[in-house]
Amino acid sequence: MARNVLILLGYPGAGKGTQAKEIMRRLNIPQISTGDMLREEIKLNTPYGKQAKELMAAGRFVDDAVVDAIVAGRIRREDCRNGFILDGYPRTVAQAETFSNGMKTDDRLWVIEISADPEHVLSRLLGRLMCPNPMCTQIYHVHSRIPKVEGFCDKCGSSLVHRPDDVAEKIQERFVHYRAKTDPLVEYYKKTGCFRQVDGRPAAAEVTRQLMELIDGEDLEGDMAAPALKLRKGQIA
Ligand code: ADP
Repeated sequence: MARNVLILLGYPGAGKGTQAKEIMRRLNIPQISTGDMLREEIKLNTPYGKQAKELMAAGRFVDDAVVDAIVAGRIRREDCRNGFILDGYPRTVAQAETFSNGMKTDDRLWVIEISADPEHVLSRLLGRLMCPNPMCTQIYHVHSRIPKVEGFCDKCGSSLVHRPDDVAEKIQERFVHYRAKTDPLVEYYKKTGCFRQVDGRPAAAEVTRQLMELIDGEDLEGDMAAPALKLRKGQIA
């Protein structure tokens, strides 16, 4: 069965996680967030977690071999048989090449960048709160996405946390790495037929609308239109 593979690109704070959750709900394919998976590896103190811990705390990229292995293991699971949304992977051209080597010939690839400049996303990151429950990982913001009960997740009731890497100095460090390693990845995907962009600056619901319009196929031509429509209509089983 052909899988529909969505890759979301964008600066930290551009809204990849928030949008991936919404698309997951609408299209019934899982979100695969390397950031969430790495935080879980760290919590469980696994060998991968030990390798990732200091790099993540410093706002640097984790080694390609670690994230490649985590993602390869995750997409072998049954719930990915019809497709999946990659949030935070690939982040380097090398990761993209490794990932594409593992793709099946009938997979349909879809790459969408949620574009937002670093100045715009900084305040989002500084005010971001997240649910640390790995089964939930809901995202909030102290001003624009306030939980119903202060400090607690609306969905699962866990105490919300401010990510330790969401502080000014670490955020700047993450931007530097994004520019150096992920900007070339954007250029790499631009050369493929499946690259699209949406404006990440409006409110989340408007960004979702733009994404769904693309997925709907209205803006697409040729080869990408068919899988887009299938995704939208849930005809992916
Ligand atoms: P953000 O996109 O806001 O940086 P994430 O939760 O996606 O947040 O990622 C948090 C951190 O996890 C990154 O700063 C990086 O250290 C690590 N990480 C996540 N995905 C990757 C990846 N594909 N390659 C290397 N490091 C990664």
